[in-house]
Amino acid sequence: MADYIIGLTGGIGSGKTTVANIFAEQGVTLVDADIVARDVVATGSDGLKEIVTHFGEQILSADGGLDRAKLREVIFNNDSERLWLNSLLHPMIRESMLQQCKEAQSDYVIMVVPLLFENGLDRLVDRTLLVDISPELQQKRTVDRDLVTAQHVKNIIGSQASRAEKLSKADDVIDNQGEISALKCKVEALHNFYLKLSSNA
Ligand code: ADP
Repeated sequence: MADYIIGLTGGIGSGKTTVANIFAEQGVTLVDADIVARDVVATGSDGLKEIVTHFGEQILSADGGLDRAKLREVIFNNDSERLWLNSLLHPMIRESMLQQCKEAQSDYVIMVVPLLFENGLDRLVDRTLLVDISPELQQKRTVDRDLVTAQHVKNIIGSQASRAEKLSKADDVIDNQGEISALKCKVEALHNFYLKLSSNA
């Protein structure tokens, strides 16, 4: 049972997934907020049942799963529906993530949360780690990865907390502007540091 949690965050395209995978190679258990957020509304889940009760069957796609595009449409520009949905899902996501952390067998857990500071989830973790790159590099790497427009990425970057705000809040920072090989060394050094912290916790 792991009871020491590192919250890993960073803007779109900063390298969170890449960094998380290097921690996983060291044997650290990952708890991924994006995966948990999908699981809590999966077919047969309590979350999906509540959503259908609230919005009706029109919110389902032909295969019986949640129609995400439809849900986005319904809450778009509708603050009260968006608040209703967030107050249903956020506690479920938080509980499920904490449960997964508790069940983990590694010395500590990496919780990967893209909007860690924005959603106040930094309060749930023992320490925060930010993957940091410039907005220009975020844009370039995301465009290369997702084949989306630069403007699309710019809009997403603009909707997330600023680089300065995240830097001021994070306990630890990994600069990911260099090569992946350099990143590996930095992650391995942090891993050793976190092993020490978790054994003293
Ligand atoms: P995030 O999970 O934060 O959105 P990713 O880990 O997916 O970011 O990284 C974004 C893209 O940049 C991916 O295609 C990844 O392979 C690439 N990438 C990550 N780190 C580096 C690096 N140091 N040098 C070059 N490319 C990188």
